[in-house]
Amino acid sequence: MAHRATIPAPRDRAVADGEVLMTAEGLTKHFPITGGFPFKRRIGAVQAVDGIDLTLYAGESFGLVGESGCGKSTTGRLLTRLLEPTAGKITYRGRDISRADRKQLAPIRPEIQMIFQDPYSSLNPRQTVGKIISGPMEINNIRPKRGRETRVRELLEIVGLSPEHYNRFPHEFSGGQRQRIGVARALALEPKLIVADEPVSALDVSIQAQVVNLLQELQRELGIAFLFIAHDLAVVRHFSQRVAVMYLGKVVEVGDRDSIYHRPRHPYTHALLSAVPEAALSDEADARAKVRIRLAGDVPSPIDPPSGCRFRTRCWKARSKCASEVPPLVRIEGNLEGHLTACHFPQEPTRVREEDVILDPALRDLEADTG
Ligand code: ADP
Ligand code: MG
Repeated sequence: MAHRATIPAPRDRAVADGEVLMTAEGLTKHFPITGGFPFKRRIGAVQAVDGIDLTLYAGESFGLVGESGCGKSTTGRLLTRLLEPTAGKITYRGRDISRADRKQLAPIRPEIQMIFQDPYSSLNPRQTVGKIISGPMEINNIRPKRGRETRVRELLEIVGLSPEHYNRFPHEFSGGQRQRIGVARALALEPKLIVADEPVSALDVSIQAQVVNLLQELQRELGIAFLFIAHDLAVVRHFSQRVAVMYLGKVVEVGDRDSIYHRPRHPYTHALLSAVPEAALSDEADARAKVRIRLAGDVPSPIDPPSGCRFRTRCWKARSKCASEVPPLVRIEGNLEGHLTACHFPQEPTRVREEDVILDPALRDLEADTG
C-alpha cells in the first residue's frame, strides 16, 4: 500500500476488536421451486442454507469454505441482508436485523459491504472509476472533509492504484486492478464488515496472492472484520484466524485456523485439507496431516439432501446412525475451545486411510447397513 498516512481513523470506536459484531442462529434460506404453468405451485425447495450458527467478532478475519453449491454465497447474501432469510436470526451489533426492512437497514448498510467474485460484471462499464467509488458515498450522504474526489484519489492509492486513474473506465484495467477498484468502493463507506465472496477465484493465479495480501493488510490496519469466502482451504490458510467449513447448506466444522488445519475432526474437513496443494502448506505438521483423500461422487442435490448427516453418502466412516440422526455441531473432547464439529464419529484419526481412497458407493451402502 502506498501512503499509510491516508488511511483514516475509523468513524467511531463503538465496536472494539474482539467484541461480537454479528451472529447468525439457525440461519436458513430455502429457495422455492415452482412449477405447473399457469398456476405457480410450490413443488419443492432448494435448501441452500439450512440452519447455520455463526459468530463474527469485530476486526477478525473469518474464512467460510466449501465446495461450489454448498451455500456460501447465499450465506454471505443473507448476512449482508441482500437476501431475506426463510428462518433464523441475524443480529448486528446487538440488534436483530433478520426481518429489518429497507428503511431500518439503511443506517447499517454502509457498515456491511460486499466484494464480489467477478470483477468484470460487478463494475458498471459506463461509469468512470471516480464515479464508481464515489457513488456509494453519495447515496449514503457521506461527505469526507476534503471532498469526495480527494477521498476517492486517496482510496485509489490505498488499494495500490494511482490517483490518476480517477477518470478512467473499467475496461482499461486488468482483472486484478478491477478487483482493487471494487475494494476501494467497499472501503469508501468505512465498513465494519466486508463479505468478500471468492474475491480472487476469477483472477489469474499469478495475481491472486497480491489481492489477498492487499485485503489482509486492510483487515489488519483498518480493523475491518472480513468474512472471506473461498472454495478451498488454501486461500484462507493465510488470511483467516478462524475458519468454518460448509457442506450442503450446513456448517460441519468451525474453529481456530490452527486447530482446523492440525486437528480436523470432520471427515469432510479432512478431505478438503487433503486437496490443498503441498506448496500452500507452511510446515511439516500440515504436511503430515495431509493424507490424500479423493471423495467419491458428487455433492447431492440440495433439493433432496440425504437424511441425517448430509455428508454420509460420501463418507468413509458412515454408519446407520448417520442416516437417522443429524449430528449436532458441538465441541469434541480434547479439542480447543471454539472448535466445533458436526460428526457422530469424530474419533481420531479422521485420516484412517493411508492411501488414496476412491469409495465405491455400493460398498459404502453395504457398510452403512451393517455398521
Ligand atoms: P456457493 O456460493 O457455495 O457455490 P450458493 O449459495 O451460490 O453456493 O448456492 C447454494 C445452492 O442454492 C445451489 O444449489 C444454488 O443453485 C442454489 N441457489 C442459489 N441462489 C438461488 C436462487 N436465487 N434461486 C434458486 N436457487 C438458488
Ligand atoms: Mg458462491
